[in-house]
Amino acid sequence: MDPAIAVLNAGSSSIKFSLFVLRAGALELTHRGRIEGLFTAPHFVARDRGGQIVGEKSWGSGAPLGHGGALAHLLGYVRELLAGRHLAGIGHRVVHGGANHLQPVRVDAAVLEDLERHVPLAPLHQPHNLAPIRELLETAPDLPQVACFDTSFHRGMPQLAQMFALPFEMYEQGVRRYGFHGLSYEYVASVMGDVDSRAAHGRCVVLHLGNGSSMCALLAGHSVATTMGFTAADGLPMGTRCGALDPGVLLYLMERRGMDARQLQELLYQQSGMLGVSGVSSDMRALLASDEPRARLAVDLYCYRIGRELGSLAAALGGIDALVFTAGIGENAAPIRERVCQHAAWLGVELDGEANRAGGPRLSTTASRVSAWVIPTDEESMIARHTRTVIGV
Ligand code: ADP
Repeated sequence: MDPAIAVLNAGSSSIKFSLFVLRAGALELTHRGRIEGLFTAPHFVARDRGGQIVGEKSWGSGAPLGHGGALAHLLGYVRELLAGRHLAGIGHRVVHGGANHLQPVRVDAAVLEDLERHVPLAPLHQPHNLAPIRELLETAPDLPQVACFDTSFHRGMPQLAQMFALPFEMYEQGVRRYGFHGLSYEYVASVMGDVDSRAAHGRCVVLHLGNGSSMCALLAGHSVATTMGFTAADGLPMGTRCGALDPGVLLYLMERRGMDARQLQELLYQQSGMLGVSGVSSDMRALLASDEPRARLAVDLYCYRIGRELGSLAAALGGIDALVFTAGIGENAAPIRERVCQHAAWLGVELDGEANRAGGPRLSTTASRVSAWVIPTDEESMIARHTRTVIGV
C-alpha cells in the first residue's frame, strides 16, 4: 500500500494536522483538520480533500485537553485514517531553526536539545512546536520525525540583510535577522511560475498577512530581505504583536516604569498590535466590521506600515515586478488589499477593483506595470514535501 506522511503544526491553543499519501510518485493530500481551544472548550474537526467534514468532536468547556490530550486524539484519528497504510514519517512546523539549520532536519534527542535553546526567541510558538516532537520521540522512537523551519528559507539572504548594527561579535554569536513565515514564502515561490513567470524569475514582494504578518522580497524565488528579524515580533504590527519598535521605548519602560522582561514580553507579544491600538480585537474581521474610531485607526496603521515596508523591500530589490497577497488577511480581506495596492500605486500597481472584490487570483489590471495576485499559501504541503525528501520515500 502507498505510504503516508502526516504533518503537525502545533500552536499555543490549537494543533493542526494534515495527511498525505504518496501515490504514483506524488504527494496527495487526503485529509486535514485541527483541534482548537486546547485549554478552553476543545473542538476537533477533520475534513477530506474536498472540504467535507468527516470527523468532529467537542469536549465542552471544563474539559481542557492540553497538548498531550490533543496529540493523543489526533494520532488515534490519523491511525484510523491510515487503515493499515504505513506512516513513513511526521513533518513538524518549527518556527525557529536558529543559525545552524539551513534545511529541514530529522529530529533526534540532540537536535531537539538544540531547538529547545531557541525557545526564548519564539516564546509564542517554539515550545508548542516542540512539545509533540518530544512526546513522539519518547512514545514512538522509531517513527521518523522531521522539523521544518520558518527560518530556513531566509538563511540565504545577503549578509547585509541579516545584520543589525550591533557589535559584530553579536552577529557571529547568532544575534541576527532570521526572518519567519519561510515555509509560506517557499510554497508561494514554488507555485509563482504557474500564475506569472516574469515575476517568478524577477522581483516580487510577498505579503503574508495573518495573525502574524510579515513581508518578503523574493529575487527569482529566493528571499533577499524580510520584515521579521531576530524574533517574530519585528516588522509589521500584527494581531497582538507590535512589530518594529524603537529600542529606546524598551529602555524607557524598564527604567521609568519598572517593567521586567516578562512584562515586556507580554506587552510586545500579547497586548500590542491591532488589539492594543484598537482596544477592540486582534481579529481583522472584527476590526473591519467595527465602527469604533480606534478600530479604524488600527486598520489605518496596519495599512500604512505595510505601505512603508513595501517601499523598503522594493528598494532592496531595485523595483518590483509583482505583489502577492497570502494568509488569512491577504487571501480574504479585499478592503486591506485595496488599500495596500493604493499605497503601492507609485510603484506601478494598478488595481482592478472588481477582480479584487472577487478574490483574484489576478488583482491588477492588464495595463498595470506591476502585477498583483492572491496566492493561497499551503505551509503543510511544503512541510510534507520536505519530510518526504529528508526521510527518502
Ligand atoms: P495565523 O497567523 O494564526 O495562521 P491566519 O493566516 O489564519 O492567521 O489569519 C488570521 C487573520 O485573518 C485574522 O485576523 C482574521 O480576522 C483574518 N481573516 C480571515 N478571514 C477574513 C476575512 N474574510 N476578512 C478579513 N479578515 C479575515
